[in-house]
Amino acid sequence: MIIGNWKMNTPRSDALALANAVVEMKYLESTRVGICPPALWIDSITRIVKGSSILIGAQDCVGDKFGAQTGCINANMVHEAGCSMVILGHSERRTRFAETTEKLLHTIAAVLETGMFPVFCVGETKKQRESGKAFDVVAGQLRPLLTSGLDLGGIVIAYEPVWAIGTGLSATRKDIEEMHAIVREVINRDDTLVLYGGSVSPVSAADIFNAEGVSGALVGGASLSANKFAAIVAAWERR
Ligand code: PEP
Repeated sequence: MIIGNWKMNTPRSDALALANAVVEMKYLESTRVGICPPALWIDSITRIVKGSSILIGAQDCVGDKFGAQTGCINANMVHEAGCSMVILGHSERRTRFAETTEKLLHTIAAVLETGMFPVFCVGETKKQRESGKAFDVVAGQLRPLLTSGLDLGGIVIAYEPVWAIGTGLSATRKDIEEMHAIVREVINRDDTLVLYGGSVSPVSAADIFNAEGVSGALVGGASLSANKFAAIVAAWERR
């Protein structure tokens, strides 16, 4: 599974052009490809990808069904707009909005209830890695899922070391293999997809995709170029 996270990029005309280019991409039926545009463009992009197998995702949502929550968009709304997944717990949201796994359980449940799947992000900071706490931090971010009673079969996990996001410095194959093994040990399910995210590019992709335990990628910056995104998808299929 290769997912593009466009973040707060792409003004409308760029977003529609990029979506049209992604639809033209050739990839195998066995590869699941998705894009997460800014929320305002989801409705239009859903229409562009109609008839293709491109999945559309939201970059966030809230778990409540309605209410006085100015500026918020809930899981039912993004589902109704055509999404089949929602990124949750991205480090940029954990940092800016103090999101934690505990606080997100309600949202994960709401996303699952609609039939969409969450792409749930975990990852340590540079300081946490340097102080030898990376494994504990990531395991700690996952553990609340285990006691939540949620059906973990529907959840995709993305391991995204914070220090690798947008820095051009992806984690080494060894770092990725070690952490993916920890993620899989904690989640303890054979069927969970565990993506890697953090400076995945056409150059770094081949090595990352050969790492044991990697089920694909969550791609930020490189997903803003249809050519680079296509090259990453191709690297996945060549691995
Ligand atoms: C991300 O923000 O999810 C991400 C992986 O970004 P980038 O690929 O730009 O590092």
